[in-house]
Amino acid sequence: MNIDLVWLRQDLRLADNPLFDGPLGEHLLCVYVLDERWLADGRLGPARLGFLWQCLIELRGRMLARGSDLLVRIGDPVGEVAKLAAAEGARCVRVRHDPGWEERRAVDRLRHCLEDKCSVEVREGGMLLSSASLPMAIAALPAGFSAFRRRVRDIVPQRARPTPVTLPPWPPSAPRGLPALRRVCPRADRWRASPRGGFRFTGGEAAGRARLEDYLWGSGAVSHYARTRNGLVGADFSSRLSPWLAHGCMSAAQVNDALHAWETEHGDSESSRWLRFELLWREYFHWAARQDGRILYGRKAAPLGGDPFEAWCRGETGLPFVDAGMRELADTGWLSNRARQNVASYLVHDLEVDWRLGAAWFERCLIDYDAASNWGNWGYIAGQGRHVRAHRFEVLDQAEFYDPHGDYAVRWCPELSSLPAGEARHRPWRHAPATFPPPLAPSTR
Ligand SMILES: Cc1cc2nc3c(=O)[nH]c(=O)nc-3n(C[C@H](O)[C@H](O)[C@H](O)COP(=O)(O)OP(=O)(O)OC[C@H]3O[C@@H](n4cnc5c(N)ncnc54)[C@H](O)[C@@H]3O)c2cc1C
Repeated sequence: MNIDLVWLRQDLRLADNPLFDGPLGEHLLCVYVLDERWLADGRLGPARLGFLWQCLIELRGRMLARGSDLLVRIGDPVGEVAKLAAAEGARCVRVRHDPGWEERRAVDRLRHCLEDKCSVEVREGGMLLSSASLPMAIAALPAGFSAFRRRVRDIVPQRARPTPVTLPPWPPSAPRGLPALRRVCPRADRWRASPRGGFRFTGGEAAGRARLEDYLWGSGAVSHYARTRNGLVGADFSSRLSPWLAHGCMSAAQVNDALHAWETEHGDSESSRWLRFELLWREYFHWAARQDGRILYGRKAAPLGGDPFEAWCRGETGLPFVDAGMRELADTGWLSNRARQNVASYLVHDLEVDWRLGAAWFERCLIDYDAASNWGNWGYIAGQGRHVRAHRFEVLDQAEFYDPHGDYAVRWCPELSSLPAGEARHRPWRHAPATFPPPLAPSTR
């Protein structure tokens, strides 16, 4: 009996998923393993875990509908996959080439565990470009985004593959199941985003596609992206596709294809070009992460946090614009790009806290956490790793420019609502100490 094992990680979709391309064995064993260390060391906060579980539940339903299944386990991913492959006598494990260093190391460990009993096939996917289409070797990737963009400008992005109609059946003796989230992490099961965020994210391929459809064809908000992309309040100032892209519920090629279809109907515009430009930033950080390896996370073990760091996490620095951002992050698991840049810059350049602590906090909180984009953007702001120059944002100036009436500050810091609209709402203020959230565990990287 030929059994192929598909090991899913950040590619939780059926459409445009290279792992389901080409002939599969008579039986298919598809597995996702939640790394138990992420639960233990606090790296995976309740919002991200809740979103991830929604993605897994939805994907399992889609796989069942196609005659297959999805097994979800908690443990050491490499150990679990190796055990399953051995127990079921799988002939091959297919896995995607994820850009993070830990993810790559896991594949090397799996190869080592399986020796020559079962082959490991690593496939690329989820991106606009393939390594074969890059005009340079990954080792020779330019250090900066602008040079990267110039070099890839003329490359035609990959087209998305269709969704498989059926899948091979589940191996008769293989275990099945997806643990209930309330047993894995009751806090994540209870977690609900604050409605103040103005948008409800639901994990899974269908919800991602619905958002993409709505953004392009429903509300049509894409047509003003160039003007609104620095927004702070509302559902449609930017695409909000990042959580689905990060978990692989949708690929960059799918977004690009949909954008192309929209441009065919409406003509290309500054807005559609700008959205594609942002997708290219993602592309750049992903390829850069492959080049950087462990350097992406900084050169030493991350230090423990102190008072200023914990005040920043709690949204109690005393600067309303920063506090609003940090509270939105804690209460919704998401943050606009403008707010991310400002809270990150404030931590690194004003509070002079080690950038890796901030990146680790984002890793815990963001439902769109993706190793390459998160650590890459933090390194960019801090001027670390491959980024020779730091990027500092003057937070008060930014607050007055992007939030001139202080609406964003008041939305997340209602204590300010008695102040007149305008600059007064951005003046530094003081807080009573609070107890949420718990201090961050030290990074184990
Ligand atoms: C400190 C910091 C940390 C970040 N961490 C993450 C992260 O963990 N995961 C993540 O997806 N993005 C991260 N970003 C990038 C960016 O803030 C988000 O991708 C964006 O805000 C998501 O909102 P959106 O989907 O509406 O983006 P849109 O503005 O609609 O852009 C469309 C897509 O382009 C990509 N994109 C846009 N800007 C960037 C960027 N600067 N870098 C990489 N990709 C980009 C995203 O996939 C995004 O979904 C970070 C930025 C900063 C400054």
